[in-house]
Amino acid sequence: MITVDLRSDTVTKPTPGMLNAMFNAKVGDDVFGEDETVNALEEKAAAMFGMEAGIYCPSGTMTNQIAIKCFTQPLDELIADQTAHVYRYEGGGIAFNSAVSPRLLNGPRGILTADMIEPEINADNIHYPHTSLVVLENTVNKGGGSCYTLEQINPIAQLCRAKGLKLHLDGARVFNALAHTGDKAVGYGQYFDGISVCLSKGLGAPVGSVLLADKATIKYARRIRKVLGGGMRQAGFLAAAAIYALDNHVERLKTDHAHAAILAEALSKSSAVSQVLPVETNIVLFDTIDTAEAVLQKLAAQGIQAMSTDKHRIRFVLHLDVQPEQVEHVVKVIGSLAN
Ligand SMILES: *Cc1c(COP(=O)(O)O)cnc(C)c1O
Repeated sequence: MITVDLRSDTVTKPTPGMLNAMFNAKVGDDVFGEDETVNALEEKAAAMFGMEAGIYCPSGTMTNQIAIKCFTQPLDELIADQTAHVYRYEGGGIAFNSAVSPRLLNGPRGILTADMIEPEINADNIHYPHTSLVVLENTVNKGGGSCYTLEQINPIAQLCRAKGLKLHLDGARVFNALAHTGDKAVGYGQYFDGISVCLSKGLGAPVGSVLLADKATIKYARRIRKVLGGGMRQAGFLAAAAIYALDNHVERLKTDHAHAAILAEALSKSSAVSQVLPVETNIVLFDTIDTAEAVLQKLAAQGIQAMSTDKHRIRFVLHLDVQPEQVEHVVKVIGSLAN
């Protein structure tokens, strides 16, 4: 039977080419700064995004949490959308690691504007926490892969600059956003103080994310990474996979987006589905007439794994381990889901 795993774009396994790059990596002790492959990855990613420096970390959660620690003081407040990964899916780390409170907004599909943010910046008054950071997510995971363009980011960055706030990007899927908008990665550096990029999502590396910022921030970030237990030794074996992914798996993200569009089209014709949310990138969110649980069981019986995000909502995520034959199989199974 054909099997398809649409639970997440984190489920990909290294390709033969990637494994080969890993086997041939030159490594050293990265806590001593001596792993040349890690150093090369950090420099390469920073240059791609127009930033000064980078730090390789075990997870996207760690890069985001380090950024929040670098850009705030205890008792500060950060502004983010209520769907934000940094708030919902990082275990309350904003409070635990940084003693910061979140101010949550309600952007359509998680997308914020300067007009939404400005009135939420606290005045200088001892009753109020000091607002010091804005966090954007691109693409928005819980928004179903919705995207900001650089043109939309520009006024937010101008506002942050004018008000003395730092601006961090949770760019776990920033390459999906770039593939959709046609913006250039290098254009991001001028707007953000920090950028997190996941290498183990759609790019298909087994482990890791990079945090990009200026040199002084990254120097402090190395201290915080050590405190969190994220200093790895011969991490070059993993960094080699990440470099391979940046060289080989960026262009192909458009294939995942095309696959997502095919599935969305099939779902929109199914009487088992009440609505399909707009699809911009590699994530498809749709609502089911029957419970999500019941539909997931029918899918599982046909070899298709997916996740529910609500009682009547299912998420499909496309990635590099989903081939056209598998997409065809899913389309067929959707056709048989009649309510
Ligand atoms: C996956 C993800 C992260 C990081 O997740 P890790 O599993 O810790 O690597 C951060 N932000 C968003 C939006 C994500 O989807």
